[in-house]
Order: sequence, then structure tokens, then C-alpha cells
Amino acid sequence: MGRYPSWGNYPKAEQRMRRLHWRDDDLPSDEEGSTLLPRGLGRSYGDSCLNDGGTLLDTTRLNHLIAFDHEAGILRCEAGVSLADILEIVVPHGWFLPVTPGTKFVTVGGAVANDIHGKNHHRAGTFGCFVTRFELLRSDGRRLICSPADNDALFRATIGGLGLTGLLTWVEFRLKRVESALIDVESVRFNELDEFFELATASDARFEYTVAWVDSLARGSELGRGFFFRGNHAPSTNGAAPAPRRLSLTVPFHAPGFLLNGWTLRAFNTLYYNRQRERTIRRRTHYDPFFYPLDSMGYWNRLYGRRGFMQYQCLVPHEGGHDAVRALFSRISASAEGSFLTVLKVFGDAASPGLLSFPSPGTTLALDFANRGRSTLALLEELDSIVRRHGGRVYPAKDARMSVTSFQAYFPAWREFAPFVDPAFSSGFWRRVTAGAG
Ligand SMILES: Cc1cc2nc3c(=O)[nH]c(=O)nc-3n(C[C@H](O)[C@H](O)[C@H](O)COP(=O)(O)OP(=O)(O)OC[C@H]3O[C@@H](n4cnc5c(N)ncnc54)[C@H](O)[C@@H]3O)c2cc1C
Repeated sequence: MGRYPSWGNYPKAEQRMRRLHWRDDDLPSDEEGSTLLPRGLGRSYGDSCLNDGGTLLDTTRLNHLIAFDHEAGILRCEAGVSLADILEIVVPHGWFLPVTPGTKFVTVGGAVANDIHGKNHHRAGTFGCFVTRFELLRSDGRRLICSPADNDALFRATIGGLGLTGLLTWVEFRLKRVESALIDVESVRFNELDEFFELATASDARFEYTVAWVDSLARGSELGRGFFFRGNHAPSTNGAAPAPRRLSLTVPFHAPGFLLNGWTLRAFNTLYYNRQRERTIRRRTHYDPFFYPLDSMGYWNRLYGRRGFMQYQCLVPHEGGHDAVRALFSRISASAEGSFLTVLKVFGDAASPGLLSFPSPGTTLALDFANRGRSTLALLEELDSIVRRHGGRVYPAKDARMSVTSFQAYFPAWREFAPFVDPAFSSGFWRRVTAGAG
């Protein structure tokens, strides 16, 4: 038994790890009745990648490419291949990931199981929209090829299915054509929340990628102030692209908890907001710092100390969404718990393919809270009540504490999903959010 923490380092779990070496291998047999859960690079924040008392299936050695059609931009690879590895291979051929999250250190299996979204959601939808087929290994030994045409119900359950429907051994998906490795970026300062929504409306038609950072502690007339980042792939540059920034610093151990306090939070948010005096700054940059600014610091999650942290990512539908976001920020800025990394984005209308996919039309807000125990949990429960009242939902990939009631209100399709769960598979998250369900 070992710890194998999730990215938020909360909650703690003791679990066995079994490493998979070949995609043709059988699943390890059930040990003392314990359940199985596939594991990618552990970049989920809460307990959807934990299986306390059970077994994790480490997929990171299933890291081989199987086929790459350079002309059509279709890639088939084992599920443990990371997005970082894919970028290294496909960008020189003029292709890019169709959808990418804020870190490239996630596996393709993890990208499917959480049906991840990125800064281009308003144009492209989720990662699952680009998946053409995959192989799913069930605990009864069956290997099922799933696609929109074959085993389509299992296809829809597995995309966003939180690793509960079986093991993805390989995945095939479509890439996106690009002319260069560079992004033309604009950073626009905004002074309050309404300005954010105006910028989002004005930008979504012209820019493929949009996202905002918000000062989570600003109040009153400055509530919701921040920076709006928007970008497009740059045209062909006819020359070498500037080298991406390499991993420059690794946090070697858990920082003492007192480092992140109310004072440092306020100082960081204020300094960051004041880093740009001009309203708009334009630059051309390599895709790496644009998409993955946090990846340049290895294990930045250790800055939150041994107690870890909780990310809270919610979504509220368009109708009533401005009021809901305002209410969420008012509650957060009035609390003693602030967030360094507060991200706001308007999702587009593309339907997500998975039964439990998180994205749907509306506005999504993501925040990181140091784990201060009861006060943090109480705040997040209050945020949940705002989100529930507005008909929204919270992202399971980031969650470590939503209640049974919240989950079942956020994801009414869970009853349709439940019969697809492999009887030998489970996770801390799943046991928690279905506890007592009949
Ligand atoms: C800095 C940072 C930024 C992020 N930004 C975003 C973002 O912008 N958008 C977004 O959507 N997410 C974002 N995330 C979350 C992250 O993209 C997801 O949690 C992703 O699923 C993690 O992939 P992983 O390989 O680490 O999988 P893990 O975290 O190890 O596992 C995630 C889930 O996938 C399942 N799984 C893994 N491999 C397989 C397999 N082979 N077969 C079946 N199931 C499998 C697991 O059982 C688990 O349920 C971010 C995370 C971090 C740390």
C-alpha cells in the first residue's frame, strides 16, 4: 500500500499500485476483493483518481504511438501517452491538439475519462468531440471497440466516465491543423465583472482561445477585475520558432502551510493585477507558455503544504449566469479564503459527448483554495448552494468534497450512467457521491 496522492494532495488515500506494461495484458486479478481504478498522471485534484483501500492501474507505461496519419491528422496511441509527448511529435508536422487543458502533463486516457476542455471550448467543445474510437478492456476480459457507430452507449458513458467503465487501452482522435508553433496573444485588462462578459462576447468570434484571470479578493466596484487573455495560432513564420521555456524550477518539498496566508494572497492578487498598466498588450509567443504557464514549475502544488488544497470549478448556465458569478465572487471576497489562481471562461454551445461530461453552455469559474479544514469546506458548501440554485454543476476532476445531493442534482444522467460502471471498478469519488443511493 502507498499514498499516490492526487494533485490537490487531499484527501489522503492508501492504495495498491499495479503497473501495466502491455496493452494486450489482462487486468490484474482482484486482490482480496479490492476494486480497480485506472490512473494516468494523477493531475486530477481530488478523489476521482484515488481508490482508497483498492488498486490503481498505472497506465503510464502504455505510452506507445500506434498510428499517425500525417495527411488526415488522425492519431492512434496507447492511453498512457501524455499530451506533452504528442505535442513534440505532431507540431513539427503542422498539427496540434484539438483541445488541451492548462497542463500538458496529462495522459490521453485521463483526457477522455474527464472529457477535458480548454481555452477553445467556445469554438471546439471538449476533447471527446474529437475521439473517433477507442478500445475498452472490461474486467470480464472483453475488449470492446467503441465509437459513435459501435458500442455507442458505452462510448458515451466512457467519455467523461471517470475511469469507471473499464480500462482504455488505446484511443484514436483527430488533430487540428496549424501553420506554426506560435500563438498571437492579446492580454486585456478589465476593471470589473461586466467588462469581462463584454470582452468574452466581443472576443469569441475573433479568437480561438479565450480565458481570464480574476483577482478573487477585489470587492465593491472592482469586483471581478482581472486580465482577459485571447489568442490565435500564428501564421507560418518561415523560420525557427523561438524555443519554448523549459521546466525551470521544481518545488522540492511541501512548503510550510503559513506561507500562504491572507496577506500573501492579497499581495499576490494586487501585484498580479497591477503588472500591466496598458489596457492591451500584444505579443507573439511559443504555444508552451501560453497554454501551460504552470508547467514551468514542477510540483507547484507543494506550495500549498502538506494539508494540500482544493480546487473548485463550477459552471453556471447563461440564464442568470452573470448574477450567479457575481454572487460567487462576493461570497469569496468576503471570506478569509482567497485564491491565487482564479480563472473565468465562457463555454460555447457545442454539446459534450459524454453522459457525465462537465462542460455545457454557460460560464465556468475555477479557484484554488488552501485546505484550512472546516472553514474551507464550509465556504465550498456555500458556493455549491449558489451553483445548485442557478442550475449549474461542479467539475468532478477537481472535486474532493461535493455532497451526494449536489452530485445528483448536478449530474442527473448519473442514473443512466451507473449501469455502465464495470463491477470491478470504483473510486473514492464514486463511492462518496453515490453513498446510500438506491
Ligand atoms: C495545472 C492543471 C491545469 C488543468 N487544467 C484543466 C483544464 O483547463 N481543463 C480540464 O478539463 N482539466 C484541467 N485539469 C485537470 C486534468 O486535465 C484532468 O484531471 C485530467 O483527467 C488528468 O489526466 P491524468 O492523466 O493526470 O489522469 P488522472 O488524474 O490520473 O486520472 C483522471 C481520471 O482518468 C481516469 N483514467 C486515466 N487513465 C485511464 C485509462 N487508461 N482508462 C480509463 N480511465 C482512465 C482515472 O481513473 C481518473 O478517473 C488541469 C489539471 C492541472 C493539474
